[in-house]
Amino acid sequence: MPEFFIESKKIEYRDKTDVLVIGGGPGGIAAAIAAARHGMKTKIIEKGVMLGGLATAGHVCLFEPLCDGQGRQVTGGIAEEMLYRSIEYSYNTLPSHWKKGVTYVENPENTAGLEEQVYMKEKGRYCTIFNIPAFALALEESVLKQNIKILYDTLFCEPIMAGNSCTGVIVENLSGRYAISCKMVIDGTGFSTAFQRAGGECVPYKGNHFTFECLDTDFEKMKKAIETGKMRHAIHWRILGWNPVFDDPNAPNEYSGLTAEDINRYALDSHRVALNYLQQNQRPDYALLSLPSMVQIRMTRRIRGRYEMKTEDVFKRMEDSVGCVSDWRKPGPVYEVPYRCLIDKKIDNIMAVGRNIAAQDDIWDIMRCYPGAITSGQAAGTAAAIAIKNKIGLGEVNQDQLQKTLSKDGVIIHR
Ligand SMILES: Cc1cc2nc3c(=O)[nH]c(=O)nc-3n(C[C@H](O)[C@H](O)[C@H](O)COP(=O)(O)OP(=O)(O)OC[C@H]3O[C@@H](n4cnc5c(N)ncnc54)[C@H](O)[C@@H]3O)c2cc1C
Repeated sequence: MPEFFIESKKIEYRDKTDVLVIGGGPGGIAAAIAAARHGMKTKIIEKGVMLGGLATAGHVCLFEPLCDGQGRQVTGGIAEEMLYRSIEYSYNTLPSHWKKGVTYVENPENTAGLEEQVYMKEKGRYCTIFNIPAFALALEESVLKQNIKILYDTLFCEPIMAGNSCTGVIVENLSGRYAISCKMVIDGTGFSTAFQRAGGECVPYKGNHFTFECLDTDFEKMKKAIETGKMRHAIHWRILGWNPVFDDPNAPNEYSGLTAEDINRYALDSHRVALNYLQQNQRPDYALLSLPSMVQIRMTRRIRGRYEMKTEDVFKRMEDSVGCVSDWRKPGPVYEVPYRCLIDKKIDNIMAVGRNIAAQDDIWDIMRCYPGAITSGQAAGTAAAIAIKNKIGLGEVNQDQLQKTLSKDGVIIHR
């Protein structure tokens, strides 16, 4: 293909804010809410047209546990608040022994009589299924209540760098390509796009396997919903594909999620699997309810950070902890999340949240889920506010002040 140059166009600043959050997923939203509650003028730019990221547009409707699986709550703050927001306007599967204010449940495994046993969690953990549109609307309500501005259908394109500081970002939407100036940036893209384009050191993940989850229903499920009086039985969260559940043995099954080609391959593979399923289930009593509008790739690219969380960190006290997160896969393990995982070695005003934070493979798999994503988000928004108020870089944020502020806001700092 021949190369060519286009004449450079003047890009004008049309807006300014204190904290600019890129990506309205769970991590970005928590960051925005925390920053706004601490007095910052805050804006979220989101390329889709709803909040929630993979939790809503990506159809991943299970809020992983806030407890350690042995009866102790380990994650609090905005994560707990969001769990309740996820179920406020619709159904849930929260075990009845978990309620706001309950921080310990004796013998949660002896709860066989629980009316609502949670998906895949044999021990009645502090987690729940939620209804996707109800959560998206509740999130938007929470964000607007804090006077946070949302700019939907807007793509973050490039950071505007002055040395190691980001002074603004270039965005593109139907009104054109323009710049927004800001004091702090939160990278909640899930792909560390802001860091990568700002020259931060990033680590790719290549081994994503295929998963495709969507919602469907049939007469049987509807009947159960009517019999039990619980609508959640009518809406089924179906896993349609899980590598190697491919009809085509030659289909590629590893995705990096880091190129346009790869995202398209994932989307097309997902749709093909869904179409096959639909073709095999051409029955008058069956219907697919919706398709996700984000590809369901788990890990793509994270920052290297000043510290990388790793398996050996389990139960370790971290002096710069900004919250605790449990292992959603098994009862027991708890990790304290170090502040250093959210910041880059050089760039002093961009923070990573959610899927972007510095956590090695096994821990990345834990931290990417909602409790971890939101905990990192709350810490990032709070730290951004402290840094702006004190006119300092993110590396200089006083850890004692950060921890005291987070703790006052409900975060469980140490195990
Ligand atoms: C198959 C699968 C199953 C999962 N299962 C669970 C589960 O059961 N429970 C659980 O707790 N977690 C689960 N997860 C993990 C969880 O969904 C995500 O890791 C979590 O949503 C991460 O939050 P985030 O805020 O970092 O990013 P995301 O949710 O990915 O949000 C990122 C947001 O940024 C926006 N964005 C990206 N780039 C740009 C740009 N350039 N400009 C503007 N906006 C942009 C996106 O549109 C999106 O809204 C699962 C994930 C997958 C893929």
